[in-house]
Amino acid sequence: MRPTYQVTELLGDGIGPELSRAVHTLADALPICLEFVPVDLTLENRRAQGLKIYDKAVEAVTASRVALKYPTVTAEESPNAILRRRLDLSVIHRPVYTIPGVPTNFRRELDIDIVRIATGGTYDDPGRMIGVDGAVSLRIVERRPVREAARYAFTLARRTGNKRVTSASKYTIQKATDGLFESIAKEVAAQFPEVPHNSELFDALLGKVIMTPDRFQIVLVLNEYGDFLSDMACGLAGSLGIGASANLAFDAAAVVRVALFDAAHGTAPDIAGKNLANPTAIFLALSMLLYQLGETDLGHTVKTTTLDLLRQGIRTRDLGGEESTDSFTAAVAAEVARRLAEAKDLP
Ligand code: NAD
Repeated sequence: MRPTYQVTELLGDGIGPELSRAVHTLADALPICLEFVPVDLTLENRRAQGLKIYDKAVEAVTASRVALKYPTVTAEESPNAILRRRLDLSVIHRPVYTIPGVPTNFRRELDIDIVRIATGGTYDDPGRMIGVDGAVSLRIVERRPVREAARYAFTLARRTGNKRVTSASKYTIQKATDGLFESIAKEVAAQFPEVPHNSELFDALLGKVIMTPDRFQIVLVLNEYGDFLSDMACGLAGSLGIGASANLAFDAAAVVRVALFDAAHGTAPDIAGKNLANPTAIFLALSMLLYQLGETDLGHTVKTTTLDLLRQGIRTRDLGGEESTDSFTAAVAAEVARRLAEAKDLP
C-alpha cells in the first residue's frame, strides 16, 4: 500500500487555484498518497466567514501537522500574520540558492539555508515617542524560540552531512540580547559536536556572504537580521520571487510540531487565470514539505527535477521561456515519474 499523508491546503487568491492544480498534478506522479484537506482562505471566503475561518485553518493544520499555503491578498487582515500567531510559528527556514535561468547580477553560486527566529528582535514593539525629540523601542530576545531555531539549524546540519552552522548577531554591542542569543547557540552547538559551528558579527557576515558565498551553509539569525539577510541573499541568487519557506512551530522538546510551507511571491493578480503562473516556488515548497514528512528521496527528486528543467530552458514566460503553467507542470511531473521509475529499477 502507498504511504498516505494528510496535507492541509490553505487555498489563496489570484494564481492560487492554478498553483493548486499544478501541485495536485505533480503529487499524482509520486508513489505516495497526499490527502489534501482544503481550507478556503480566499479573500471572498474570509469576508464571508470572518475570523472564524482561521479556527478551521488552525484545527486542520494542527491535525495534519503539515500544510501548503498559497498566496493570499492582504486586506483587512494579514492571513500570514494571523497564522503565524495562532499556530505559534516561531522559526522560518528559507533556503536560498542560485536558480538556473533566473537572471541575476551576481556571478557566484549561492546555496545558504537561513534559519530565522520569526518573533521578537525589534519587530514586536512598534516603539513610542519620548517627548517630541526622541523615540524608543524594545529589542526582545526569548530563550525558547532561539533554542528551537538553534536545534532546528543543527538538526538540519546533521541531516545534510554535517554542514557548517554560522550564528550571526551583534553580540559585541547588543550584549544582553544578542549575547543571550549567542550563548544559546553555543549551548545547542555543544549537543552536536560533529557539526562545525562559528559565530560572526552580522555586519561582517553580510560582506563575507558577497565576497565568499561558498563559506556559508546554514546561518542562524535573530528576526530582523534574518529579514535583511534573506532579501539580500535572494537578490544575489536572483530568487526573490521564486524561493519557498518553511514556517515552523515546535513542541516542548523543540521538535517540529507543525510546518507550513509557502512560496515567496504574491497572488500575481495581473496574470491570474491566464495559465501563465510559474509554479517553481510552490514546487520547491512541496519539496520541502516532502523532506519534512521524511520522504527525503521524493523531496530531492522534486527539487532537482524542477531545477534541471529550468537549466535545460524549459521555463515559463516570466523567465523568458515559452511554457504555460500546465505545460511546465506536465514536464516536471513526467520527468519526476521517469526518474523515480528509473531509480526503482536500479539493482
Ligand atoms: P506579486 O508577487 O503577486 O507580483 C509581483 C510581480 O511578479 C507581478 O508582475 C506578478 O505577475 C509576478 N509574479 C508573482 N508570482 C509569479 C509567478 N508564480 N509566476 C509568474 N509571475 C509571477 O506581488 P504584488 O503584486 O506586490 O502583490 C499582489 C498581492 O499578493 C497583494 O495583495 C499582496 O498582499 C499579496 N501577497 C501575498 C503574499 C503571501 O500570501 N505569501 C506574499 C506577497 C504578496
